[in-house]
Amino acid sequence: MLRIDLAEVRVGPVETTGELAADDPLLGEVDPGMTLAAPVRVKGRISSAGEGKFYWRASLETVVRAECRRCLAAVEVPVSASLGVIFAHEGDVVEDAGCYVIPVRAKTLDLGRAVREEVLLALPRFVECRPDCRGLCPKCGANLNDGPCGCAPAGDPRWDALRALTQLERKGD
Ligand SMILES: [Zn+2]
Ligand SMILES: [Zn+2]
Repeated sequence: MLRIDLAEVRVGPVETTGELAADDPLLGEVDPGMTLAAPVRVKGRISSAGEGKFYWRASLETVVRAECRRCLAAVEVPVSASLGVIFAHEGDVVEDAGCYVIPVRAKTLDLGRAVREEVLLALPRFVECRPDCRGLCPKCGANLNDGPCGCAPAGDPRWDALRALTQLERKGD
């Protein structure tokens, strides 16, 4: 469960296991070029860290689908993150990465918001279908991973000579 009864946590650490669906509205603002291809699986444990403070250690796992930044092929990339998150009452905590405010009278704690933010932080800035992706030809748009497209790379006259040669060879076939 990602909704935690804080009274329980004050008694002792509580296991936090759950998942957010890939289309969970909490995740709606994920980079428009990226979508989640799998639910976000969350596993961890939350414990009391003093008056009005809670410490949550957890791991997240999901899969992101995006276009390869070179060849635009759809790619699915696993994403995972380890979290060490503090929840505390306003005033007790500077809200920044890894710190979340909980209302003073809150009886339950919804981990969904923290999960969402931590997923956003864990997303890769870009994806590539493979480290040596050759991308698309800037002239004809062909996917160069499928082989050379026959265009000469701009501005290198040596290729013109080479192309003339290969055309000669073809004529000779
Ligand atoms: Zn690629
Ligand atoms: Zn080309």
